[in-house]
Amino acid sequence: MKNISEFLPTARSVVESCHPLSHTALPVNLEDRNRLLHESLERWFGFSSLRPLQKEAVDAALDGRDALVVLPTGGGKSLCYQLPALVLDRLTVVVSPLIALMQDQVDGLRLNGVPAAASHSNLSAAGRRELNQLIDSGELRILFVAPERLFREDFLQWLTQQDVAAIAIDEAHCISQWGHDFRPEYRRISELRERFPGVPMHAYTATATPQVREDICEQLQLQDPAVLIGTFDRPELTYRVLPRQGLIDQVVEGIGRHGDTATIIYCISRKDTETLAKQLKSRKIEAEAYHAGLSAGERTRISADFRAERLNVVCATVAFGMGIDRSDVRLVVHAAMPKSIEHYQQETGRAGRDGLPSECLLLYSGADAAKWRMIVQRGGEEYGDDETVRAQLALLNHMQRFAGRARCRHRSLSEYFGQDYNEPSCGACDVCLNELDLVPDSHVTAQKILSAVARTGQRYGASYVIDVLRGSKNEKVMQRGHNEIPTFGLLKDLPAMRLGNFIDQLIDESVLVRTDGEYPVLVLNEASAEVMRSTRQIELRSPKGGLDQKPRRRRSAAGTSVARELNGSEHEVFDRLRAVRRKLASDLGVPPYVVFSDATLEELARERPTTRSQMLDIKGVGPKKLDSFGPQFLEALAE
Ligand code: ADP
Ligand code: ZN
Repeated sequence: MKNISEFLPTARSVVESCHPLSHTALPVNLEDRNRLLHESLERWFGFSSLRPLQKEAVDAALDGRDALVVLPTGGGKSLCYQLPALVLDRLTVVVSPLIALMQDQVDGLRLNGVPAAASHSNLSAAGRRELNQLIDSGELRILFVAPERLFREDFLQWLTQQDVAAIAIDEAHCISQWGHDFRPEYRRISELRERFPGVPMHAYTATATPQVREDICEQLQLQDPAVLIGTFDRPELTYRVLPRQGLIDQVVEGIGRHGDTATIIYCISRKDTETLAKQLKSRKIEAEAYHAGLSAGERTRISADFRAERLNVVCATVAFGMGIDRSDVRLVVHAAMPKSIEHYQQETGRAGRDGLPSECLLLYSGADAAKWRMIVQRGGEEYGDDETVRAQLALLNHMQRFAGRARCRHRSLSEYFGQDYNEPSCGACDVCLNELDLVPDSHVTAQKILSAVARTGQRYGASYVIDVLRGSKNEKVMQRGHNEIPTFGLLKDLPAMRLGNFIDQLIDESVLVRTDGEYPVLVLNEASAEVMRSTRQIELRSPKGGLDQKPRRRRSAAGTSVARELNGSEHEVFDRLRAVRRKLASDLGVPPYVVFSDATLEELARERPTTRSQMLDIKGVGPKKLDSFGPQFLEALAE
């Protein structure tokens, strides 16, 4: 990293030449600069300290240096570009693909008194007024822009005349073809380098494998960037992966573990979302389906209800959640397997954004992968791009392996994103919580499976081998005479799904191989022979029945200790504060978490401040919010 004295003259002279009167220069002295940072953090956000990588990211921005910041969802990326804009007191442009998210961020910032606005094609009349007013008064410091707006010539013309301190690219992985969410229009962002020479560029993403990271730096032509990569692990999330057996019961059981809290259930198809929502309603759980096939009005109503806490359970396709920033989601269910670990990480990442313990439940079946494979291939025909299709299929295979294996979920996820995981047991996944049982006759079962693969000539996929092992008398089995071989019907008491899992586990243990390609088949390798000869022992795992554990309170996303759980009376206070928050939010027309996060409400319930200055000590309460909301909350606390 650059020495502070090297950059300060430039940064300062820019600030001074553009705004000779109204702007404070950045202090030369490091101590003074940190003090200014700290004051701004308190003043604008009500936080008392920066999280580890936030400090480095903010420093890079203040140093006028390019940066790539990879922090998991909930890691606090937005602050990394918001705070420098306020400290430097200059305009930062934030490119973001998600209009709903933009609007939430703007609402949240404005409640803190930050001069922020958004520019996109869905801007309301009020939004446009706000934007123009901030531009006219010269106060605008944070401007969110959708890519499609950014590249309108009149907009670019205008922007080049502004004193732009930095350009932040949110969801930067969208620029990479190797990523899980490639958006061709993101490619144009590199053009900004020519339009804004010398303006530092900061890329932010929550999910990026090493390959995607490199691609981002290259595509955006980042110059000697500060590369800041946070820990991917989210210790406050408990991961469970279960074979899908009676979806509705499994979902109801999952919701039952968390009571009356926010739940998102992801399905692959629109129809699945509707069926599931209907089934939940018939079980007296208020739920709505959400997908891109609904009318815009319907979609807006549902997301508004969810954000305003009028609705807690949403069955959705991936169309939902982009921009739904409700921070108290306690359960994310995948009713089917997502098509990449990146998607899984991003969607499960919507649980527990407030750092409180939450659960992620994946219910999968072997058929999910087949369905995705078809969808990806069809998408490829539209793309006309084989390379992108191959990249997507590889991502899918990783996801499938993750689901089928009996390896610590936290460890598997960390390793996928190129990070070591050093805890011997995470204490927060089905594997480490010992929710998987050791199958009593594991080794013999493994031998039977391998033998069936051998006896059918290593020419068939998992589902056919399963048919043979279960003694199915379907046409193909009969035609091929596989009803005559010794392995036929050897495992007829095991459900097909369970057998599929065992096959995945054997593949995971590298004693069985699934070939690549369009029609993968199972084949044996040298290790298979060791298992057959019993020179190598195999342990298979299967999921236990009922789960009644709520996720336990562990560490927060930032690695700091999470406060102890609320006791009974504190819980009552918390619920009362939640009602106050809901009312205030609805009066203001903003989502409740924008007023205060659950973490802030919990601390209020625990500390029960009685004065304004005590309330200011609570994390998430800044002077501006104290003015706006202090009286109502202090009144509720006094009761
Ligand atoms: P991301 O964009 O990385 O998913 P956000 O920027 O939305 O994460 O931040 C997640 C949550 O953490 C928000 O509720 C935010 O207010 C909170 N947060 C961010 N930085 C800090 C901090 N330094 N101290 C306390 N809370 C923070
Ligand atoms: Zn684990």
